[in-house]
Amino acid sequence: MATVSGSSLPRADLVFEAARVLDATGDCRPLEPCDVVVNQGIIVACGEGEARAWDARETIDGRGLLLMPGLCNAHTHSPETLARGLADGAPLGEWMQHVWSNLDTLDEAGVRLGVMLCAAELLHGGVTAVVDHFRQTPASEEAVSSAVGAWIDTGMRATVAVMVRDRHVPSWVTQPLPARDQVDLLRRCVGQWNGAHGRIRMAAGPSAPTRCTDDLLRSLGSLCAAEGLPLHMHVDETRDEFELARQLFGKSAVHHLDELGLLGPDTSLAHCVWCDDDDLGRLASRGAVVVHNPLSNLRLGSGRAPVERMRDRGVCITVGTDGAASNDSQNVLEAVKLAALLPRPFVGAPGEWITARQALSFATAAGANAFGMGDGRVAVGCRADLAAFDRASLALAPDNDPCCQVVFAGAGLRARHVVVDGRLVVRDHVIRTFDERDVLDRAAGRHGIGMTD
Ligand SMILES: [Zn+2]
Repeated sequence: MATVSGSSLPRADLVFEAARVLDATGDCRPLEPCDVVVNQGIIVACGEGEARAWDARETIDGRGLLLMPGLCNAHTHSPETLARGLADGAPLGEWMQHVWSNLDTLDEAGVRLGVMLCAAELLHGGVTAVVDHFRQTPASEEAVSSAVGAWIDTGMRATVAVMVRDRHVPSWVTQPLPARDQVDLLRRCVGQWNGAHGRIRMAAGPSAPTRCTDDLLRSLGSLCAAEGLPLHMHVDETRDEFELARQLFGKSAVHHLDELGLLGPDTSLAHCVWCDDDDLGRLASRGAVVVHNPLSNLRLGSGRAPVERMRDRGVCITVGTDGAASNDSQNVLEAVKLAALLPRPFVGAPGEWITARQALSFATAAGANAFGMGDGRVAVGCRADLAAFDRASLALAPDNDPCCQVVFAGAGLRARHVVVDGRLVVRDHVIRTFDERDVLDRAAGRHGIGMTD
């Protein structure tokens, strides 16, 4: 192993010494005191006294820290951070027109600002990985490039699912490009950006099965299969969407996707509020992923997703905030808390409730694995995506049950340190990859949906 002069010890990039570590798997029991040693983006040692065996370039005193896996936000739309707080009281259709009629044509600076605002909130919340279902209609290479470039600059892991549609386009939306051109655009973006910096994945992001022709969906499926890309879309967000699918396909949207051969472990479906038992069986047997967005589903009055039945059927469940205009935060722990609590009045026995431990796993290992963005664990051999919170905080003191406290009391927690791919992206609450003050100043100059620069 590499050594430095004066030391015969193997080299490490970063060490957290004597932290309280919450691996967020199994029984979620914290390890303490625990050293976590990181080198070249990987956790190379984890345990009491391990730091002594390494020559660390940077050591952080972990005694006041709860160190856990970085969180994954598995569904958002970055431009909506410029439109939070708007259209209260409107259901999805009306809300979409109010919010997106202006957001759809942001200039490149606006797209970048939306990403940076989104990233700042995510990073402060301990989020290391995000799925940006990126919408600009009509889609343009410039807009996608601006978004991807911005995500690269944040230092986060990001899956950018380029939104496409060619069906049921409302009159207020500028006509999208022809379907073939949208697929070509996605293909070019994949060629340019997929795998960039080891942190960026490109994905196909059809808006919804009801908003795409079968030809477009099949073309996207072929591209995803050929390039090893995820397929990410909205499904059954509202009752209207659910009923439209029955009208169009004579069956549910999930059933239709299954018949098109588009359900698999690389397919993730946001919302799934109205899925029935047959749908859940299909999702489970194909290994498809559900992204649960409880805040957005409540804000827009869309309904309650049957997460407990998804869990019981063995469906892979992850969580998302959805865009900031339907939430209105990007707070993943808030979504995790609701994932656990929202089903409880509707589920018979307490033994069937979703526990804090299960809910936290939706935003850690499940999210990371579903999108190939890190591992969502604090363990040897795993990629070093970490969030460190102060134990001397109102949510975490006293130390009763860190997992429950993170889930049920953690929405106000701000990460002291955030590590992505082994790199300290947040240090002592300060984002090191971009100038947050500048981003806030720019945002303050954009009122409402921010059409001025
Ligand atoms: Zn969405």
